[in-house]
Amino acid sequence: MSVTTDYYATLGVDRRANGDEIKKAYRRLARELHPDVNPDPVTQERFKEINQAYEVLSDPEKRELYDRGVDPFAPGGMGGFAAGFPFSDLMDHFFGGGATRGPRSRARRGRSATIRVDLDLSECAFGTTRDLTVDTAVVCPACSGEGTAAGTHPSTCEVCGGMGEVRQMTRSFLGQVMTSRPCPGCGGYGTIIRRPCHECDGDGRVRTRRSVKVRIPAGVEDGTQIQLAGEGEVGPGGGPPGDLFLEIVQRPHAIFERHGDDLHCTLTIPMTAGALGATVQIQTLDGPATIDIRPGTQSGQTIPLYGQGSSHLHTSGRGDLVVHVTVETPLKLDPEQEELLRQLARLRGEESPPGRFAPGEQGFFSRLRDAFNGR
Ligand SMILES: [Zn+2]
Ligand SMILES: [Zn+2]
Repeated sequence: MSVTTDYYATLGVDRRANGDEIKKAYRRLARELHPDVNPDPVTQERFKEINQAYEVLSDPEKRELYDRGVDPFAPGGMGGFAAGFPFSDLMDHFFGGGATRGPRSRARRGRSATIRVDLDLSECAFGTTRDLTVDTAVVCPACSGEGTAAGTHPSTCEVCGGMGEVRQMTRSFLGQVMTSRPCPGCGGYGTIIRRPCHECDGDGRVRTRRSVKVRIPAGVEDGTQIQLAGEGEVGPGGGPPGDLFLEIVQRPHAIFERHGDDLHCTLTIPMTAGALGATVQIQTLDGPATIDIRPGTQSGQTIPLYGQGSSHLHTSGRGDLVVHVTVETPLKLDPEQEELLRQLARLRGEESPPGRFAPGEQGFFSRLRDAFNGR
């Protein structure tokens, strides 16, 4: 026996474990070792191993052959898993890629699915959990994915004798050439399901609606994709499940514009506050806050509130909240106010000001807006 990996030990199940126990063990480990939960490379390697183990042990045909230490894909079921056999080659055999020989497995990997998740800015910034309803396919409970009616099993194809391919000797200018093609009798599977399962019509899976509780990490933004490995549809013939992808859509916020993990907003203050200074109440993602406007504040000046932006996605810490100040010139003056301002202008020698002229100067915020709009 030259099998190199103990798949039972990998999943932590007994060699006599049934399909349900294997599935349960796999799902428990998959949740625990999921890259979203444990992104470190060692855990990810383990995660890959349990997926490999599940791919073999969840398929009754492959499992039986594995138990005998036999490579299920060599013609006639001969030979073992060669030591150091690269896993990618093995995958090609499992999923029909590459130059396969011998019968194909009915089990194929399930499709991946993408779900759009709409979130508010604060949910993106701080993370949240969602109960999602997914229309998906699960392993058929009646036949455990085998596709056969209760009490029956696939029978060996008589056309190819279980080889999954038929060979033919043809003459060509090169001499005699042996060609092989998938068996027309069984479609290359080597076996025939004579009595398909009533529940799934032989597909090995049934459609269902499932709810998934997902934790969305702090710091996601519009377009972020979250991969939930193994949460997609199971494949035909009890094949391993695909992945579920969440695509984050961040709803626009009434006040804050997000740029990376920094937030930007505009604060308009009256001219007098700009000149004299003031204390102003503003909104932040963390609630109300007060900021000090220093005397002599100009339009276009920014006031940073460090660490008041969105959380970073992969590291600790947060971006900043940048308040862009606009100083507003009063629009309507009553006679008394006008007189006061004229008096001020006289005192400051600004009755006929020369003004200052400069080339088209743009503030940071307008440049930022241009960057947003792709200009
Ligand atoms: Zn079934
Ligand atoms: Zn056949």
